[in-house]
Amino acid sequence: MAATNSIISMAIKHNYVIRGVLWTGFYLLLVILPLGMLLLGKVPPGTVFGWDFAVALGFSALAIMFTMFLLTARFKWTTRAFGIDIIYYFHRWIALVAFVLLLAHPLILVSEEPLLLEYLKPDAPWHMLAGNVALAAVFLLVITSVWRKALHFHYDAWRFLHAVFAVLAVGLAMIHIVGVNYYIGTPWKRELWLVLAVSVVLLLLHVRIVRPLLIMRHRYHVVDVSPERGDTWTMTVTPDGHPGMAFMPGQFVWLNLWHSPFAMREHPFSVASSALEPQHMQFTIKRLGDFTSTINKVKPGQYLYLDGPFGAFSIDRYPDASGYVFVAGGIGIAPILSMLRTLADRGDRRSLWLFYAYRNLERLTAYEELQVLQQRLRLHMVIVLNDPPTDWMGERGFITREVLQRHLPGDHAALEYFLCGPTPMTVSVERSLGTMEVPLRRVHTELFDMV
Ligand SMILES: Cc1cc2nc3c(=O)[nH]c(=O)nc-3n(C[C@H](O)[C@H](O)[C@H](O)COP(=O)(O)OP(=O)(O)OC[C@H]3O[C@@H](n4cnc5c(N)ncnc54)[C@H](O)[C@@H]3O)c2cc1C
Repeated sequence: MAATNSIISMAIKHNYVIRGVLWTGFYLLLVILPLGMLLLGKVPPGTVFGWDFAVALGFSALAIMFTMFLLTARFKWTTRAFGIDIIYYFHRWIALVAFVLLLAHPLILVSEEPLLLEYLKPDAPWHMLAGNVALAAVFLLVITSVWRKALHFHYDAWRFLHAVFAVLAVGLAMIHIVGVNYYIGTPWKRELWLVLAVSVVLLLLHVRIVRPLLIMRHRYHVVDVSPERGDTWTMTVTPDGHPGMAFMPGQFVWLNLWHSPFAMREHPFSVASSALEPQHMQFTIKRLGDFTSTINKVKPGQYLYLDGPFGAFSIDRYPDASGYVFVAGGIGIAPILSMLRTLADRGDRRSLWLFYAYRNLERLTAYEELQVLQQRLRLHMVIVLNDPPTDWMGERGFITREVLQRHLPGDHAALEYFLCGPTPMTVSVERSLGTMEVPLRRVHTELFDMV
């Protein structure tokens, strides 16, 4: 039995690694292949190196921009291989790379031929104007994304504009390259780039029309909303005439409560309930802003839509671990609750540790539930309070290396770690674990503020 379990878990791990490698290879192919194709067959007569280099940079930037639509299309296979936070971080960094390449494209060309500056004038040919506006759109995309919070840009408005600018940038860049007609003079080369552009349009149709239609057919409704400690509510939902979704404990969904799935108004929330009870999914939601402040107004019977499950933050990816360590800060307890509840429902007898940091005991979300789980599991719970009562006998301050070392066993490097909470906490605990010689591959994080 143990041997069978070990083979299954090896297969699961290998599956994720293979998927990750395949996706990385596929991504590189998507960026490099269309570029390589341009060099096949008839090519323009050789000019100076800088000129061709600048053109290659422009095409590379556009190829990367195409892939960004794929990265953010929320395909489950990609998020399962890497985790959605990694995908979003990659999206952010690769977007900056595309921007730098795109900016270098005209700068190098102008340094080779200063007369090209004439194309900045309003009476420039339409395809050159299209190129200029595409560059401006990408510039705005970068500025509004990198400094969204500093600019006090509301998330929903930013997201809508982000989509509009992205489509505009790619559409205008296509008009530019077709108009310039350099390196894509041969019909099949032009067609290849047009196929890529059409694929982006099909992807958009899938994400904005087909998927919302599918989500609409699998509606849920609210059964209960109960207050929790710490300005938080737990909302229980049940599928409306369908079996619900199978998910791994720790995964999250995009939740759409007040709008149709066609509106771009969904929010990501971890499932907090047991994976063994898909008919009663729970979300533990902390009041933060516009949307989360409406949860306490939700009445039983209210319809909602879920898109998911997504993410790679789950014990089920590491089923043969000798034990698990959970580190939660504030509402970061939500996905960890799902993992603990699932382990309890499975009758798991492995050793577990929970380090849970919050400001004070009054705000400690799910405190009572965790005490119940302690009875059902071999769970060693360490509460770390920043502002403890005077008679508090437990840990105080932050989750430091000393706190971890005081409670973890000698063989702590062999355990699997799941961290979810504010970014400073996650980064600091990751560092502490590194100094305690816990291999990085055993430390898994979920960041709620990835966007
Ligand atoms: C994978 C994941 C799982 C999460 N799980 C939970 C959970 O279980 N419980 C919980 O309380 N919170 C969770 N969150 C955080 C939650 O999604 C945000 O707190 C919520 O979307 C904020 O919306 P708001 O309108 O109330 O706040 P606002 O004040 O409008 O936004 C605050 C910040 O939240 C982010 N945000 C806002 N809207 C969205 C959106 N539609 N999509 C993505 N990010 C957005 C933005 O960074 C924004 O600056 C999770 C986040 C992620 C990424």
